[in-house]
Parts: sequence; C-alpha cells; structure tokens
Amino acid sequence: MKKQQRLSIIEFAKKFSTDKKCREYLFQKKWKNGFVCPKCGSFHYCELSNGLYQCNDCHHQTSVTAGTILHRTHVPLTKWFLAFYFVTQDKRGISAVQLSKTLDVTYKTAWYMIKRIRCAMKQRDINCMLLGTIEFDDTYIGGPTVGKKRGRGTEQSKVFVAVSIDKKGRPKYLKMQTTDNIQQRSVRKFAQANIQAEATIISDGYRSYIPALKDYKHEHGVYNPDTGMLHWLHTMIGNARAFILGTITVYLRKTYRNTLMNSAIVLIVAISPICATD
Ligand SMILES: [Zn+2]
Repeated sequence: MKKQQRLSIIEFAKKFSTDKKCREYLFQKKWKNGFVCPKCGSFHYCELSNGLYQCNDCHHQTSVTAGTILHRTHVPLTKWFLAFYFVTQDKRGISAVQLSKTLDVTYKTAWYMIKRIRCAMKQRDINCMLLGTIEFDDTYIGGPTVGKKRGRGTEQSKVFVAVSIDKKGRPKYLKMQTTDNIQQRSVRKFAQANIQAEATIISDGYRSYIPALKDYKHEHGVYNPDTGMLHWLHTMIGNARAFILGTITVYLRKTYRNTLMNSAIVLIVAISPICATD
C-alpha cells in the first residue's frame, strides 16, 4: 500500500519552533538565489533585530512576509505555520473554533487565518496546470446518500476530479471543479483549463471521455480497483468528501453547499503547507 508522505506534527513543530526558524524558511522561499532589494535591486543587506531586512544601499526595509498573505500580520509566524499545517493536513478541514483553541488565538483571528490560507490555496490551484501523469474521473459530492441514486446520473452536484501523479507514483496536485454535466464539451473544457497538453491522462472508458480527451495521450480502460487503477484519485475523492462535508454540514445549511464547493479549494495531498505563501 502506497503511503502519503507528510511531516508529523512533532517533526513540524520542531522544524518551525521559533519565529526565526520560520523566517529563515520563508527567506529561502522568497529569495532562492539570495536577497534582492525590492526597491533598488541591490544584493547587500543586513538583518535587523526586529526581523526586518535592510538594504545596505538604499536603506529600504522589507520583510519575508511583505506581499504575501502574512503581510503585516501581528500573529507570530510559529502560529501561522501551525495553522498552515492544520488547514492543509486535516482531511476534514479544521474549524475556526478548533484552531482558536489549538493556537490560543481569538475566534476572529483563527477565522481570518483559515480564510487567508484557503484563499492562497485557491489562488495556487487556479494558477496550477496539471502536468505529467494525470488520473481523471468525475464524481459527486455533497448530496444525500439515503434513498438516492449515486454516481453518474445523480441529481446532486457533479464534480470533475484530476490528480497528478509524480515519478514515484505518489499524488502531487488535485484539481476539482463542479460541473453541470459530464458531456464531451464539459470534459474538454475542464481538461483544457486544468491539464497541460503534454500530459498523459488515465481514466475509465466513459463514452464522453474518449472524444473529449483525444488531443491528449489518453490511456483508458474498464475500471478495475484490483489493478490499482485510479487508486490515488479515489483516495483523494474520499479525502475531499470528508474535508468538504465535514466543514459544511457543521457550519452551513444544505442550500449553501454548492457555493462552497464551487470554490473548490481542495489541495489536500502531500503538498508543503508553506508553499501557499510563495
Ligand atoms: Zn535597496
């Protein structure tokens, strides 16, 4: 059984135990090739005791969080980092109440942090086109399961799901989008918006998929779970269902389900939680 790689909370808390460690991590992410003054382009700087970086040439002061979702935050970076961890690693989606207790911040602060983190994740999701090997399928999320028809043909919200698989066979990025139908045109539109032309798509042989994905390298066949076919995709769908429904059923009434799902901010896989600040 393949396992998703993730840092344990102990490892994570140790790695980012102080604001300085968090700042150094962000420094590496922001200035991969060394500091560059955003005002004059100079490479020469000094670090001030308040955590800011000052350009030696024009004396402009900047921070690792300037221009990111952490811009001018009063919350310590250690708490932000833990919030990233919980928001991205909790399959069911942590609530503001839980986060406020865990981080010892007010409910309002916790709510704001979750909102910013999800917004950053959504932005990254929008900007990211899937590449390489892609598992693709449609599913439904959010509908009642008692006495109702499930799967294709259901009246409930249909969702396209695509997950990219890395060279070691592990899931990398997940993209989901609600759709009115799974006809050829809709499938093609989703693929063109989310999957790079050079990608290889693996799916079952549903009739609209084959013509819709004809411009891609497309491997399709009869779905058989025993062969490991679409293994990660279905794992991710399960995670996404738990994540979305866990959040919505507690805090939102059924009528709001589609609104939240349309946000499709789900990036639950083995991503670095910090990347959302890049
Ligand atoms: Zn400068």
